[in-house]
Amino acid sequence: MPRPSSATLATFAAMSTILTLAGPAQAARTSSWPEPVPVVTRIDTQDPVVFITLDDGWNHDSAAQRLLLERRIPASLFINPMHYSWDKKYYQDLLNHGPSRMENHTLNHVDLPGLSPQEQRAEICGARDRNLAAFGDSPQLFRPPSGRYDEETRRAARACGAKALVTWTYNATDAPWNPNPELPELRPGDIILLHLDTTAEADLRRVLDAVDASGLRPAQLRDYAPDRAPSP
Ligand SMILES: [Zn+2]
Repeated sequence: MPRPSSATLATFAAMSTILTLAGPAQAARTSSWPEPVPVVTRIDTQDPVVFITLDDGWNHDSAAQRLLLERRIPASLFINPMHYSWDKKYYQDLLNHGPSRMENHTLNHVDLPGLSPQEQRAEICGARDRNLAAFGDSPQLFRPPSGRYDEETRRAARACGAKALVTWTYNATDAPWNPNPELPELRPGDIILLHLDTTAEADLRRVLDAVDASGLRPAQLRDYAPDRAPSP
């Protein structure tokens, strides 16, 4: 990390004064520890791989589950605990019988920017604890709902055991809120966003066809995600 300039230090000192004058309630809106996790929209790799990610998870589509297991797709599952609370087995089977992994998408699918560090940690650490208790595996990646985050989100993700904040390269979910999803020719390192929604199986087949056509294969995102931002 470069040494801070005296101008930076002066700015920081001024900000500290403002925070002190504003009192503890205001000061609690920001924090300086731990180091923010990197934000990852695609992976820098020469390997012929892409990454399939599935979000939310309220629709426990058996055809999508079968497809993931039969083709042994190493999906990253960003599932909110409320969406497995009534049927944990759907995900347990995916984790036990295939190479998918459960990651972190908050407890309540809330919009994080602007929440205090404590509120953001409650959402992210809360989901980490629920996933660990339910599946015996701690999430390593964090995806904020709607891909929206601020600096505190990146610190909270680190504090809650994530090594990277992951968004996506292409959103291939076919839904009323995302009509005619784009899926250009895929390149190594692309991260594909899908949802366990009513179109999950059709979306997965379309994406897997595109992956095959590009001569690539799905790989496990947590194995490739960096835990530090690349040095400039
Ligand atoms: Zn979501």
